[in-house]
Amino acid sequence: MAAPLDRHDNFGQNLYVDTRGSNANPIPFTQAVINGLAPSGGLYVPQAVPHLRLEDILALADLPYSERAASIYSAFNIDLDDKQIMGLMNASYADNFDTPDICPLHTLDDDVHLLELWHGPTSAFKDMALQCLPHFFAASADALRQRGQLDNSFCILVATSGDTGKAALEGFKGVNGVDVGVLFPHGGVSDIQRKQMITTTGDNVCVWAVRGNFDDCQTGVKRVFGDQAFNDQLLTQNKVALSSANSINWGRLLPQVVYYVSSYAELVAEGKVNAGDPIDVCVPTGNFGNILAAWYAKQMGTPLETLLCASNENRVLTDFIETGVYDISDRDFVLTPSPSMDILVSSNLERQLFELSGRNGQAVQGWMADLNAQKRFCADDATVAAMQTLFKGASISNQACLETIDFVFKKHGYLMDPHTAVAYAAALQLRGQNPLLVASTAHWAKFGDNVYRALHHIAPSSPLPDDIAALTGCQLNQLIAQETGLWGIPKRLADLDALPIRFTEVIEGGQEAIEDAVLAFLTR
Ligand SMILES: *Cc1c(COP(=O)(O)O)cnc(C)c1O
Repeated sequence: MAAPLDRHDNFGQNLYVDTRGSNANPIPFTQAVINGLAPSGGLYVPQAVPHLRLEDILALADLPYSERAASIYSAFNIDLDDKQIMGLMNASYADNFDTPDICPLHTLDDDVHLLELWHGPTSAFKDMALQCLPHFFAASADALRQRGQLDNSFCILVATSGDTGKAALEGFKGVNGVDVGVLFPHGGVSDIQRKQMITTTGDNVCVWAVRGNFDDCQTGVKRVFGDQAFNDQLLTQNKVALSSANSINWGRLLPQVVYYVSSYAELVAEGKVNAGDPIDVCVPTGNFGNILAAWYAKQMGTPLETLLCASNENRVLTDFIETGVYDISDRDFVLTPSPSMDILVSSNLERQLFELSGRNGQAVQGWMADLNAQKRFCADDATVAAMQTLFKGASISNQACLETIDFVFKKHGYLMDPHTAVAYAAALQLRGQNPLLVASTAHWAKFGDNVYRALHHIAPSSPLPDDIAALTGCQLNQLIAQETGLWGIPKRLADLDALPIRFTEVIEGGQEAIEDAVLAFLTR
């Protein structure tokens, strides 16, 4: 059993404030998880970040991953008791992952270590949080029910461009008191991603293909969230509240802090880093959740020095780190081989700005208002200076991304997915003297088409040869495995063609069509 980390006596209950300064009513962890977004539109952050002693961090290496996670959660003093937290962590990180290490390290060069975050049920890093959040969501709802503060169940609605939908389905399937509905653009996701979603098992899940692109999908869902009459009707007639599972929920962020603290302990235990020596971290970044988790790990006392923020051709974050100006007023959305990082508005940056501005909610409120009105904002000098001390950013071209996959395979016999390749290429550009931890965020077989392009020197966005384009995603992965001799495709991806298809409904993207579909699902 874990020796729980010291509770911080002066810590009391660790409540949550929001980034736009409406601090009047800080709320406990359970309520922050259920609310997701603060009423002001801001994001929840803990009032205090616990500090761990180096020896406490290093001692984590002796524990199984679930106990490491429980230790970190307990240190944050969340309003669930330690025994319950341990139970939830045992449920979150078990044989749903394909290795007992949960997120093993793979050393590429002497001092470059890949943190493989894709050993969960959907083979992408979002499992690290979405195998955990649903348990906390259900436990939080139960806690609020017992306190008489809640008497409804939930329907989680997710618009997805690919990865998040399946991770949410796998995370929430079978969870009591929660239904989950996922909408993806019809014809707009890969064969593998589509089959992952439409073959999902479980009684509380539903999947719809939506006519239109991802934007239509997302806009439709946002309108449904904003339709007060519909939400009222669901609440009074069905006793269901709509909710989302996107990465602005603090319950998705906290699980990600764990693996940065834990990996440092692991590197020291394996003799790859001397206890207390600093390392740098490089993260392929979209919504800024994963790299922000690294920043919280650093705040907790983990010897992480510089945080390297890797972007693809959507380089808004690279420019922001360089200039302090966040500007999307004249910026095109670029399609890249790393679609989960194709982003213009990086939501979790708001939390980082709050922390680096000395928790200045008013300033953050102003910047977000500027972003909304003028599509740009300028952070103040002190915040920019703090950002530049901690972070370095680089943007990697589509061509360089594919070349990196090919280069790493030839040099190391290791296949990277395009997101990881962006991080690795950025890491080589930005690194200093310190050992490096590079976040590897997806298994290559989720993105077989671009891995094939990389290995065959086909330009980024050029069509694949007809005979290759005719293959299913599974068949293409088989071919790549044959050509490279790398046969370790996870069964859950390799067997997709053989699974029964459960969801075939195609709906229009408008608000009304989505509401009809949701209502039919909830009254099934
Ligand atoms: C979501 C995702 C990312 C980006 O992570 P953020 O936390 O949004 O910055 C990177 N790689 C993959 C494979 C992802 O699914």
